[in-house]
Amino acid sequence: MKIETTGLKSFIDNEKIERLLSEAKGTDKKEVNRILDKALLKKGLDLAEVAVLIQNDDQELIEKMYHTCHRIKQEIYGNRIVLFAPLYVGNECINDCVYCGFRLSNKDCFRKTLTKDELINETKALENSGHKRLIMVYGEHPMYDADYIADTVRTVYTVKEKNGEIRRVNINAAPLDVEGYKKVKEAGIGTYQIFQETYHQETYERLHPSGPKSNFLWRLYGLDRAMKAGIDDLGIGALMGLYDWRFEVMGLMMHAEHLEETFGVGPHTISFPRIEEAQGSEFTKHPINAVSDADFKKLVAILRLAVPYTGLILTAREDIELRNEVLDLGVSQIDGGSNIGIGAYSHEDEEEYKKSQFILGDTRTLDEVILELAKHGYIPSFCTACYRLGRTGEHFMELSKPGHIKTYCQPNALLTFSEYLLDYGSEESKKAGAKLIEKEIKEYPESEMKTNLLKKIEELNAGVRDLYF
Ligand code: SAM
Ligand code: SF4
Repeated sequence: MKIETTGLKSFIDNEKIERLLSEAKGTDKKEVNRILDKALLKKGLDLAEVAVLIQNDDQELIEKMYHTCHRIKQEIYGNRIVLFAPLYVGNECINDCVYCGFRLSNKDCFRKTLTKDELINETKALENSGHKRLIMVYGEHPMYDADYIADTVRTVYTVKEKNGEIRRVNINAAPLDVEGYKKVKEAGIGTYQIFQETYHQETYERLHPSGPKSNFLWRLYGLDRAMKAGIDDLGIGALMGLYDWRFEVMGLMMHAEHLEETFGVGPHTISFPRIEEAQGSEFTKHPINAVSDADFKKLVAILRLAVPYTGLILTAREDIELRNEVLDLGVSQIDGGSNIGIGAYSHEDEEEYKKSQFILGDTRTLDEVILELAKHGYIPSFCTACYRLGRTGEHFMELSKPGHIKTYCQPNALLTFSEYLLDYGSEESKKAGAKLIEKEIKEYPESEMKTNLLKKIEELNAGVRDLYF
């Protein structure tokens, strides 16, 4: 793969970001209120408005912003939370990202790439816990080229353990060239996710000193190439703590705008992981731009209002308490029962396999996560219907923008949750789940959809699987 960036110009306009952030300081309350009212229209916010919300420090208005988020989340997404798990395939890496335990110069890193049999065992372990959606994660290494990624994805799709199967594989890997993306697309991936880490080029270049990842523009245009290869289901993200979070939120917005303007489709998801301590990385012990819990909540809320139809992903890097708090602000996807050691799902009790890229804040099992979600009135969803029915990219936008997410996703969440409870639920989660499902069905408006939904739930109880709208 040849890394070629001649002729490309960054679409991240530092000057504009800094100007908007500076102009937004001290904006009067009336204007902030106007922006919050506009957000309720669910049409999103422009960059200048996002800057105003970022700079707003008035606690009363911040609380009002949280209420607005909660309303928007309810109206668009309902009380559904999509669940997934990361599957680390290999941690060989030729880059030297200062914050990552897998970086080339970390000689203490326990390097491992799953063999095909190990990959199958990991998949079986994930299926046996009830997972249906994975994100497969790879270091950057010539070994993990597009053919390899496509091959490992195919392997995962072939594994069927009892009633278990993986129905959607997303990818978090290095950016590819157009030919590479085409190969990976053919293997049937869902989202291709690439985090820009930081949108501040100078900082980026300092923190990624060598290897292919040191090329800022190659990564920045990584998802443009994916679009050109026909992958219209993309995930963007910034690693919070590398540079000022205010700049990163503006960078994420500019990236989303760029994709929407260039290809007519914005990102499907946005991630905003915070730096966690990584083995052998001094940098991660005291990140200069570490984001406080209060700022983290604020940034999640701002993203929810700015791009109401884009999925927001929160990972188990965060601890349980904060995870619960931001769920209410509009996060739509979380991982559960995550293990990020290579081979760790099938070797849960072996110390060696626990060595990982960084340390997780939430180490609950999937069933524990599900039980807590259900107790708080959230419907855990393993739905993969849209991607399997081709409702992605532009089609997805057409469906989702008028608010159809709720129409399709809510019944599909109930179906996949029922399926989980039947096959994998503990006694406690079965009890909490049944209560929640009963309540949801009672409140579901009388309609043809309701009749069909009830019919499908009966079929699930009779042993049929994988039902969706
Ligand atoms: N190697 C590929 C890449 O860098 O894009 C994909 C895999 S990499 C393991 C996935 C993501 O992990 C990175 O994009 C980065 O944002 C995140 N990451 C790395 N070190 C981290 C740390 N110490 N804390 C939290 N997230 C981290
Ligand atoms: Fe390698 Fe990705 Fe870690 Fe960087 S973040 S060292 S590219 S695995």
